[in-house]
Amino acid sequence: MNTNSHPALVGSLSSTAPSEEVVNFSPGPTSLPKAVEKKIAEGFQKPGLTSLAMSHRTPEFQAILDHAVNTARQVMAIPDNYEILFTHGGGHGQFAALPLNLCKNLTDIASYVVNGTWSERARNEGDKYCSAQTIDGKDPVTGLYTHFPELTEEAIHPDSKFVYLCSNETVNGIELHRLPKLPASRQHIPLIVDASSDFTTKPIEWLEAGVGVLFACASKNIGHPGLTMTVIRKDLLGEDKASPLCPGVFNYTTNSDAGNLWNTPATFNIEVVGHVMNWLEQEGGVMENERRSIEKSQLLYDVIDNSNGFYGTPVTNKDLRSRMNVPFNIKSGNEELTNKFLIESWELGIIGLRTLTPFGVGDYLRASLYNGISIKDTEKLSEFMIKFQKENI
Ligand SMILES: *Cc1c(COP(=O)(O)O)cnc(C)c1O
Repeated sequence: MNTNSHPALVGSLSSTAPSEEVVNFSPGPTSLPKAVEKKIAEGFQKPGLTSLAMSHRTPEFQAILDHAVNTARQVMAIPDNYEILFTHGGGHGQFAALPLNLCKNLTDIASYVVNGTWSERARNEGDKYCSAQTIDGKDPVTGLYTHFPELTEEAIHPDSKFVYLCSNETVNGIELHRLPKLPASRQHIPLIVDASSDFTTKPIEWLEAGVGVLFACASKNIGHPGLTMTVIRKDLLGEDKASPLCPGVFNYTTNSDAGNLWNTPATFNIEVVGHVMNWLEQEGGVMENERRSIEKSQLLYDVIDNSNGFYGTPVTNKDLRSRMNVPFNIKSGNEELTNKFLIESWELGIIGLRTLTPFGVGDYLRASLYNGISIKDTEKLSEFMIKFQKENI
């Protein structure tokens, strides 16, 4: 077979393996836990009565909405002084919504930690609606995103309306396993967290870390694309806080006052988030989920670290390695071996390791270990990696 035309090399997910053997390591959208997928399928056995077919202003949908909000609050220990919104426009919607809600004027200053592709994009989008200042996270020597900069007093402008960070850089594979605390003289500034790709996989210290807004687009760990869970500290709400140009669908206060029903919300996606939150509760909650995340990622990093350089990963600081997205290359990116790896793994049902991102295919393959991936699923990949190394050393 001409390997250049093999579907695995262009990111196809249609593996020829039997469907029960397929494991989806895509960076998102991706598979949800099997039990959740089963629950969703059951819902479709009652035609006409799924959330897709319910008016959002019926008691039936109100119950679905209340369940999703209450279970999320329970599972993620979200304090009462935070509002939970289901917002439109994915993660990118929040890149714009944040300054539009927290900066009244275009000249208002906001500080962005930029240490990966997603925080860079958020800063660029945010800068349209405020005066964005960058806390640069590039490694000073290599110019690459491989670390997290120190949040010193000097780095953060005291008049910042917020300090923005991304707690898991999905593409670069850098994760903050706990949120940082701002220096004492900057603790009046709300911390904004893009938790799109790590939400529900570790506890959040809402009050201790001074979280002002945390958002997570659903399509990584908690559901399907389009919907975002946005959690806002209530003192940041208020008619007088947002830019007069903030669109209604993005306005936190408008949507909070309307109980998430200012316009038609993404009803089905909200139902799915409720199912995922239920699943998390039944599986032992966020601490158990964190334990599993550590175990899953360790399986892969151990193979990489014990491979005598056959496999490589860009983030050498183990405290910052992402448990969600494990980037790796083969013999420093050897093209022939990488293609062989992709084709052989794909034929065994291991899919989603090479995907196109808005930032290109990148130098690394990437295994994403969201809630839909079990420890057993991860073992399938780690065992394949060990075998592939033996056969191609
Ligand atoms: C996927 C992702 C986004 C983008 O979300 P969209 O729903 O595509 O707008 C933003 N931030 C992070 C960290 C992501 O992983």
